[in-house]
Amino acid sequence: MIELVRLFKLIGFMNILLVIVDTLRYDALGVNGKSKSTPHLDKFAHGKSFTKCFSAAPWTLPSCASILTGFYPSNHHLMQHWFRLDKEPISSILQRQGFYTAAITNNSNFAYNIGYQNYFSEYHFYPDGNNKIHDDELNHDAPFTKALEILKKHKNNLFLLLHTNIVHDYYLEVNKRYYEQFTNKKVKSKTWELKDRGFFLIKNQREKDLQAVKLRYDAGVYYMDQQLHKVLSNINPNTLVVIVGDHGEGFNPKLFRIHHGGRMHNDLLHVPLILSFPGKTKDIDYHKLVSTVDIVPTILDYLKVGTARDFDGQSIFKNKKRIIIYSEEYRSFYLKNSFTRIDEKSGRVFGKKAWISLKGKVIGNILDNLRYYERFDLEKDFTENKELPVNEADKVNLTDISVNQPFNLVNLQEKQHNLENKLNYLQTQIKNMSEKISELEPQIGKIIKRLSPKWWVKRILHKS
Ligand SMILES: [Zn+2]
Repeated sequence: MIELVRLFKLIGFMNILLVIVDTLRYDALGVNGKSKSTPHLDKFAHGKSFTKCFSAAPWTLPSCASILTGFYPSNHHLMQHWFRLDKEPISSILQRQGFYTAAITNNSNFAYNIGYQNYFSEYHFYPDGNNKIHDDELNHDAPFTKALEILKKHKNNLFLLLHTNIVHDYYLEVNKRYYEQFTNKKVKSKTWELKDRGFFLIKNQREKDLQAVKLRYDAGVYYMDQQLHKVLSNINPNTLVVIVGDHGEGFNPKLFRIHHGGRMHNDLLHVPLILSFPGKTKDIDYHKLVSTVDIVPTILDYLKVGTARDFDGQSIFKNKKRIIIYSEEYRSFYLKNSFTRIDEKSGRVFGKKAWISLKGKVIGNILDNLRYYERFDLEKDFTENKELPVNEADKVNLTDISVNQPFNLVNLQEKQHNLENKLNYLQTQIKNMSEKISELEPQIGKIIKRLSPKWWVKRILHKS
C-alpha cells in the first residue's frame, strides 16, 4: 500500500511550515519549564518538543543558515555578513519538488543583501529593531498577517518560512504594550526601552534589575505566543510544522553571560525544537541529542525526497547513534562589551567550536591551536555554572571527540583573505578615480564657468 505521506506528496496535498522564533530560550516555553508565557504553544507542543536540541551557532546569521541548509556554519560559510551562503537552502530543493516556497523574515540577517530571496518563490523582509528607520516601521504583527494571507492563498503544496523577531526585540519600546498586558501593570517610565539590551546588569549586578529585564523578555515571549497562535489555528491539517529557536539569550550577569553571540553556553545553544507531523508517525525519541542541522534532513526524509547531499545533520527518524554534535562561531571582529573573556587575548579574529554530548561540553578557540578553555559536565551542571579545571577534564566523558577535523578554517581564512584583497583592490580603484577627478577639477571648473550666462554675456560683449 502506498504510504500516506507519499500519496499526499503525489497529489500535492502537503504543506510545510517552518517557524524560526529568534532568541527563544529553551525554558521560555511552559512545555519545557515553568514559563507562563506560552499557553497556546504549550498546548500545541505537548509531546512534540525535543528536550536536547542544540543550535549550530549562537547568533542569527550562521544559525538560521544551518537551520535552512542542514549544514554546520563551517560548511555553509554564512558566518559573517560579507560571506556568501555556499549551500542550497531547503526551499530550492522543495521548489524542484513542485512546492510553492514563501519566506517571511524579520531580522537584518535576512535582509536582501544576504540573498535568501533568490531561493524562494516570494520573499518578504520586515525590518527589526536594528535596522528600522522609523519606530512605526517596527510592526511585529505584520509578518503574522502576511503568513495568514499566504496560507489562505496556498492551501496545498506550500513551504512557508516564518521568522519572527518579536522575542529578540523584547528590550525595545515596541514590547511595552505587551509588557503591560502580561504584567497587568501600567508602565509610567519614559525610559522603558533598554538601549544597551541589559548589559548594564554586568555593571550593577542587582537581582532586582535582572528580574525586571527578564520580565520584559517573558512579555516578548507572551506576545509571540499570541501571534503564532493565530497562524497555527489556520493551518491545513496536513501540515508538517517545525518550530525552532535560532539561539537563546543570556541573563547571567555574574558570569558575564548577557545577550547572544560569541559564547557557546547552553543559555544560547540549548533551544526549543517542536516537530509536529500530520497523522501518525513512527515513534520518535524526543530526548535524544539533536541539532538544528537535523531539521532539513528530517523534513526531506519525511517527504521521501532523496538528495545527493551528505548533510551534516541527520534525519531524526534515523536511529544512527550520534554521540557528539557541534556548534560553531567565526568572526573577524568582536564586541568587547558583549562577549566573554577569552577573546580579549586573541584579538581581532576569533573562531569557536563547541563539542557537545549528552554528558559534557568542550568549548575551544580554534584559532588558538585548539587549546581548550572551557569544559562542563552537562549531566551534573547543565546550566554550566562550574567550569571544570583542565586536569579534571577526564571526569567528563568526551573521549569520542575528534578535535582535529570539523572546522574548515583554512577555507574560511582563504575566503576572508580573498575578500580583503577585493576590498583593497576596490579601495585602490576609488583612490585612482578620486585622483583623476582632482586632475580634472580645473577643466570641470572651466566647463561649469561656461555654463553660466554671465560668462557668455561677457564674452559676447568682449567680442563685439
Ligand atoms: Zn537570532
